[in-house]
Amino acid sequence: MNRINHLFQIKYPIVQAGMIWCSGWELASAVSNAGGLGLIGSGSMYPDVLKTQIQKCKEATDKPFGVNVPLLYPNIEAHIKTIIEQKVPIVFTSAGNPKTWTSILKAEGIKVVHVVSNVKFALKSAEAGVDAIVAEGFEAGGHNGREETTTLCLIPMVRKAIGIPLIAAGGIATGSAMAAMFCLGADGVQVGSKFVATFESSAHQNFKERIIHTPEGDTQLTLKELTPVRLIKNEFYVKIEAAYQAGASKEQLNELLGRGRAKKGMFEGDLIEGELEIGQVSGLIKEIVPAAQVVEEMVQEFEEVVGNKTAWI
Ligand code: NDP
Repeated sequence: MNRINHLFQIKYPIVQAGMIWCSGWELASAVSNAGGLGLIGSGSMYPDVLKTQIQKCKEATDKPFGVNVPLLYPNIEAHIKTIIEQKVPIVFTSAGNPKTWTSILKAEGIKVVHVVSNVKFALKSAEAGVDAIVAEGFEAGGHNGREETTTLCLIPMVRKAIGIPLIAAGGIATGSAMAAMFCLGADGVQVGSKFVATFESSAHQNFKERIIHTPEGDTQLTLKELTPVRLIKNEFYVKIEAAYQAGASKEQLNELLGRGRAKKGMFEGDLIEGELEIGQVSGLIKEIVPAAQVVEEMVQEFEEVVGNKTAWI
């Protein structure tokens, strides 16, 4: 039996990434109802908002779902308290030290997964006692590693380093990409961008439309001096480029970024001044569809590709 399906008690080893401003209870419950694992992205939610979102998710699905907690979040203790009180069965932590919260969550019977972008942190996560790891490559949207290791290189390296269940992320939006990840040693996949362009995602319609009109090469990993982030090369990105050309300091970059740009872009739909976090695979995404269709099509394509494998060579 697939280890990710067994760990989370789900039908398909497809995890929907917990993404700020894009993944509320509507998306998480739709993915869980379709047989994958839906995650509420708590990084953009005040603690009372997270509580309501968890409660609505429980009403919308009787299947397992989880919460993603970026460890950079300012009120992290409040989020952890809410998660424990609400008896959320699964937590994905990201952007921080896996040792801080893993044992506390596990003592409550919660399954813990940590997101990493390199082998060093994969080892650190395994030592911290996580149940599984998400290894996310350079292609991914949003916050990302500084090393620029692509998913193709990262997954086999992490697989060699750790024995616990491994979920591949970064550039995965199709069943064939999922099959490729299994060939490289992954037990499951995490999908972000493709789920942003769904009916149930809480992203603004302008952002969803922009994603399906994003050609290959139109995203960039930038702001490594702050928190590295992959975003669409819109007018705000052009300003970042100009600042780099002018030799901007870290403080000046911070000032340019300001506060709340991710909300402005992804939630309020300001395509000019907002931060539009999406992965390279957006170049493959051509329509906005229901979340269940994403899961179904991935599984179908995976089965077709794997079934045909004897004809490959
Ligand atoms: P900013 O500092 O620019 O803005 C904070 C935003 O978060 C505001 O829009 C605010 O909403 C909202 N927010 C939600 N809860 C709180 C809180 N307790 N205190 C302050 N603000 C809160 O940060 P970003 O928008 O860049 O990032 C927000 C969070 O999301 C961070 O924790 C960050 O680590 C995480 N993040 C995770 C990513 C990922 O890929 N996992 C990607 C990018 C960010 P309002 O305007 O309504 O007050």
